[in-house]
Amino acid sequence: MKKILIANRGEIASRIIRSASQMGIGTVAIFSEADRKMPYVRQADEAICIGPPQSSDSYLSIDKIIEAALECEADAIHPGYGFLSENGRFSDAVKEAGLTFIGPSGQTIDMMGDKLAARKIATRAGVPLVPGTESAVTDTRVALDFARDIGFPVIIKAAAGGGGKGMRIVRNEKDFTGQMERATSEALNAFGNGAVFVEKYIENPKHIEIQILADRHGNAVSLLERECSIQRRHQKVIEEAPSAVVDSDLRKAMGADAVRLAEFCKYESAGTVEFIMDENRNYYFLEMNTRLQVEHPVTELVTNTDLVAWQIRIARGEKINFSQHQVEARGHALELRVYAEDPYNDFLPSTGRLEDYQPPAGLHIRVDDGYERGLDVPVYYDPMLSKLIVWGKNRDEAIARMLYAIDHYLVEGVETTLSFGKFAIDHEAFRKGTFTTLFVEQYFKLDELRQADEKRAFGAGLIALNHYKKSIKTYRPVIREK
Ligand code: ADP
Ligand code: ADP
Ligand code: MG
Repeated sequence: MKKILIANRGEIASRIIRSASQMGIGTVAIFSEADRKMPYVRQADEAICIGPPQSSDSYLSIDKIIEAALECEADAIHPGYGFLSENGRFSDAVKEAGLTFIGPSGQTIDMMGDKLAARKIATRAGVPLVPGTESAVTDTRVALDFARDIGFPVIIKAAAGGGGKGMRIVRNEKDFTGQMERATSEALNAFGNGAVFVEKYIENPKHIEIQILADRHGNAVSLLERECSIQRRHQKVIEEAPSAVVDSDLRKAMGADAVRLAEFCKYESAGTVEFIMDENRNYYFLEMNTRLQVEHPVTELVTNTDLVAWQIRIARGEKINFSQHQVEARGHALELRVYAEDPYNDFLPSTGRLEDYQPPAGLHIRVDDGYERGLDVPVYYDPMLSKLIVWGKNRDEAIARMLYAIDHYLVEGVETTLSFGKFAIDHEAFRKGTFTTLFVEQYFKLDELRQADEKRAFGAGLIALNHYKKSIKTYRPVIREK
């Protein structure tokens, strides 16, 4: 493998370029007309504009991307996450063009990317499952009967869903029909596939997932768990590894289930098996993500592995050269997704120009970002600006470091989830580890956010003040010389 085209944008494109370059592999960036000035375009060895800003005409165009790869003689394509990363047709098309797809086969992606198909496989592999319909439901009355059987609350989900979209919690019978209609139309709009199914809604759950790696020689390992329970709109905002509530027995059991599932579907590459855990620490399979996950850095920091490098190695046919008992978590890692969203306004996207942008730095602080000062945050794509990731010897140290890093992260021009991150990570429920996916609904209060934000503004103000002080210091000696 000599040259990889990255079929993505922003922070994840930069992230992939980093690993590929360090492995001595050339990189090609693709970009839409909206992304011409993005850092990843400069970081790659070559860059090709593939079309207008709309994803459907650029980052989702299989034909244009493969044409670009052939034109610049790349021999592999990395899909990143989102966009075409879980599109089986894309994986197959890349292969048919004579190139290597850095990820699983089209067949595996289609099988595991469809939540219903994946549930069938999980059942056969003996992995515990949330009670739910075995196939898609179209008849509302049949679905309602099923919901009555398993008992309310239930959750209606799009089979093709992802990114928290196409999901409806229904607490009682009278809301069922309306919610099912909404879920179906949302699924059709967002995923071009209106198939939905009904699942038991687990009360006060935690989201725990297992990172796996599997090669084509039959080796599969678990790189332990991540907890991603702090979410808004069913989408993660804060993630950590390890989880504060998973002990070594549970870790082993969940890891073994995830590995068995990977082996069962002859999985190849990095992947994530997501579980939902109830109050009694029973866990159930949710879905498998057949790609690199947004929150992969927390696993990298505690297991000391480069997951992108492993994806590349596995795609080259190499063997995983370590065994399960060598995998151990060292310390604790936290990640905050810094979205250009306004936490004061229901986390609505806040687009505009980054008037100022200074990420924090220091030992064990990692910022995977895609933007820089002066750039516009476009309306066309996911509004994630960066991921702020920290490591600590233990969870308390990681929390303290994260709070410091948030205070020293300066973003002006757009609203961000930084203040929310500070509020959440500083919260008693987070410190204790007792939080669930309902954290935002249960604890998030705007006046408390305002307090956290004022302190943060004070921190950011200090950054500005320091700049001012420094300029005085360098000026003074000049005065004395006179
Ligand atoms: P992760 O599962 O890695 O934590 P998310 O669920 O937050 O990631 O999704 C990562 C990105 O991929 C987001 O930009 C999200 O909108 C997008 N995404 C995920 N699944 C799909 C899908 N099936 N269709 C379209 N976009 C998706
Ligand atoms: P997506 O493909 O959008 O990531 P998931 O099935 O992984 O969808 O679910 C996303 C989130 O929705 C979970 O992390 C959890 O917070 C919530 N969720 C999904 N299924 C259930 C369930 N059966 N009970 C409770 N919460 C659920
Ligand atoms: Mg998920």
